[in-house]
Amino acid sequence: MKPDSPLIAGNWKMHGLKSSIGELQQIIAGAKALPKVAVMVCPPATLVAQFSAAAAGSRVAIGGQDCHAKRSGAFTGDISAEMLKDAGAAAVIVGHSERRQYHGETDATVRTKAEAGQRAGLLPIICVGETRGQRDAGQTMAVIAGQLDGSLPDAADFAVAYEPVWAIGSGQTPRPRDVAEVHGLIRDRLRLRYGEKGDRVRILYGGSVTPANARELLTAENVDGALVGGASLKAEEFLAIAAVYR
Ligand code: PEP
Repeated sequence: MKPDSPLIAGNWKMHGLKSSIGELQQIIAGAKALPKVAVMVCPPATLVAQFSAAAAGSRVAIGGQDCHAKRSGAFTGDISAEMLKDAGAAAVIVGHSERRQYHGETDATVRTKAEAGQRAGLLPIICVGETRGQRDAGQTMAVIAGQLDGSLPDAADFAVAYEPVWAIGSGQTPRPRDVAEVHGLIRDRLRLRYGEKGDRVRILYGGSVTPANARELLTAENVDGALVGGASLKAEEFLAIAAVYR
């Protein structure tokens, strides 16, 4: 069994103000014409409640970009999965390479955050990816396998995003056959660990996806959608990427 539908999720990172609602409204309008693809926008935490209210009843889901592992407590500046859920989110990105790099998140941290997302009823989107140095040293498959082993929770309710670190925000992308190779490894490991449920887990590709390269990247084998950074900030570009699944 394959995943229900592909998913195109936009990671707005630290971009967006209340006045950015117009982009979301355009995405909501455009998504009506794309019934074969699930569409999601992950704005900064400050906008999750506003965006969730605006997207209620539409085809667009809202997600968070990170969460704390605990429900609540003395963790100044942090946000729990339950808080995201309360604000209307349906999903949460965990383990993005920018969190791993700038906030010292390990695979074990990522796993506890993914479990927190599941506990709150959110779909965790768990990011993995190799650095340029690791790819050049021929370590990609070993790195991804290790990240999967360490970051994935026991229950198979999540999505994986394969995001080569060197492709994020750089304009560089792997060749479609390299994407297919890594996604094939991820699919094999999901099957091994979760059985048939592993077939239903979406494996997203992320890293410099644009309307110009979306078709070749997103039609590679075992690619079930995309996690889109820069190009998700402009409704027109984001919708053009989602339209690959028209
Ligand atoms: C990301 O940060 O998740 C990402 C894929 O960024 P970009 O599309 O800008 O490379």
